[in-house]
Amino acid sequence: MLFSELADYYNRLEAVSSRLTMIDIMTELLNKSSKKEVAHIIYMTQGVLAPPFEGVEFGVAEKLVEEAISVATGYPKEEVEKDYKRQGDLGLTAQSLCGASKLKRMNANKNSVTEVYKTMLDIAQTSGSGSKDGKIRMLANLIAAATPLEAKYMARYPLGQLRLGLGDSTILEALSKAYTGSREFKGQLERAYNLCSDLGTIGEELSAGGPKAIEEFKVTLFKPIRPALAERLPTAEAIIERMKGRCAVEQKYDGFRCQIHKSGSRIKLFSRRLEETTEMFPDIIKAVQNEVRANKIIFEGEALAFNEATNEFFPFQETIQRKRKHGVDEKASEMPLHLFAFDLMYLEGEDYIGKPYERRREALEHVLKSSKTIIPSTMILTSSAKELDDFFRTSVTNGLEGIVAKDLTAPYVAGARKFSWIKMKRSYRGELSDTLDLVIIGYYLGRGSRAEFQFGGLLCAVYNSSKDVFETITRIGTGFSEAQMREFKQELDKIRVKAKPPRVDAMMEPDFWVYPKYVITVKADEITKSPTHTCGREKLADGTEVGYALRFPRIVGEETVRPDKSIEEATTTKEVIELFNQQKKVGVEEE
Ligand code: ATP
Repeated sequence: MLFSELADYYNRLEAVSSRLTMIDIMTELLNKSSKKEVAHIIYMTQGVLAPPFEGVEFGVAEKLVEEAISVATGYPKEEVEKDYKRQGDLGLTAQSLCGASKLKRMNANKNSVTEVYKTMLDIAQTSGSGSKDGKIRMLANLIAAATPLEAKYMARYPLGQLRLGLGDSTILEALSKAYTGSREFKGQLERAYNLCSDLGTIGEELSAGGPKAIEEFKVTLFKPIRPALAERLPTAEAIIERMKGRCAVEQKYDGFRCQIHKSGSRIKLFSRRLEETTEMFPDIIKAVQNEVRANKIIFEGEALAFNEATNEFFPFQETIQRKRKHGVDEKASEMPLHLFAFDLMYLEGEDYIGKPYERRREALEHVLKSSKTIIPSTMILTSSAKELDDFFRTSVTNGLEGIVAKDLTAPYVAGARKFSWIKMKRSYRGELSDTLDLVIIGYYLGRGSRAEFQFGGLLCAVYNSSKDVFETITRIGTGFSEAQMREFKQELDKIRVKAKPPRVDAMMEPDFWVYPKYVITVKADEITKSPTHTCGREKLADGTEVGYALRFPRIVGEETVRPDKSIEEATTTKEVIELFNQQKKVGVEEE
């Protein structure tokens, strides 16, 4: 396929906001893709070069793209910058300057999708001194041979700003329609995707081996499995009732989720968001090598600093400081890291995902028998609400977050929030029992003393997974530090869009819309019914419509965005409704 054809599809996708039309356009595009190029087309459409766990990043800044446009079109840099300031989008700048350029097109040959993809990959992989000039040259060559419409997407792609509005779910549905003629196969595709977290691979397998290849798709070492997630319930009684009696109850550690893949001496770690984090945890890697009694294994746990002498757990914030690569060793001696292992997905060629929790746990304990650094999570088996409650209280007293109860008969449910895991977290009087992860979809300008920062708050949404849209739930206007205000304004300006972004359902209009990209963690006092928000909105018997909103929302901590969550991993509408219903029941409260 020629890149110009792909650019036409992107242009059509950008112009629509209906999800069904997006699926149809994407289906048509996939139908036209050859076996060899389908993975490239999927990655490009996602705005990436490879799945996140491969860590291939463009490393391209706006200035570099500006220079490439200048070289390709013959316009001076100042002119490019001026146009960018005017239009607020380097894609549009590339498009208009290419259209107006007097330079002859450098290349009569038209670029194919694969050629453009390969050059983009070369741009990303060029590093070291002098690499900047090389990157500019490569990008400029592409743009110089491009039509204005192609140039628009060539400039946006390396900046991670394609803004097509397609989520994973839309791509999966389009794959199903393109290769089987119906949406029915989406469930199977989702299952396979949950096992490898790589949509490009799924497209390739489907196009080469047909539906059978997807039905037979298995867990693969070094391709991370999408993590299982927990539902929440407010009381021990509710948990025991839901579990229908006996269940496992584990301590809930507030650390850094790690999925570990090992084959002989090759070991890799992946984060909750499935990015590779091997280099961050040298002492865990050493322990996996020396203390785990398995040659080939995939297992999961929570890494956090734990001082055995004082029986003290250090919270997430302190553990994450290790992220800064420098000082990893220093921190290691100060606060020794442990991994509290809680699940096993694969062992010596055998898939454990489908086996019941009891079998997985038994095998996990066996392989960790002689390990000091990697310890099975503390767990009890019980069918008594009183016993569960006591265990919860002891865990909280020891500085932990709460507990996770687990269904003894359930498989590992990759990529989904199901009642096979139920969490109960400590809560404080007058506060919701859990924080919410919200997607930023717009922001407001500051007034009064805030005018200086040009930032007055955020419009935030939750994810409605059944409709695949983002629904507003709150406007957060207070609790920001000055540094946060500055940073939000700076980051959000880069993803500002002129109109309501696709897949956003809102009745309110912020001063500026932003493309949904960032997730923040928010605390609130209560969930209330609201006439102005679209979260869970429904028509009442009297004809009025209400949704849900947050009372006294505030941002947690000094972070601006949550680095370990993608927008589709934000709190869902369904969870908000559950939390709303749980408010009425009595929770376990701590002062
Ligand atoms: P949270 O902010 O509460 O960690 P989350 O959205 O990251 O929420 P949930 O599915 O809601 O994830 O809660 C499960 C999380 O708790 C896992 O992601 C994992 O990192 C952490 N965790 C800590 N201890 C355990 C345990 N024993 N079993 C399972 N998960 C655990």
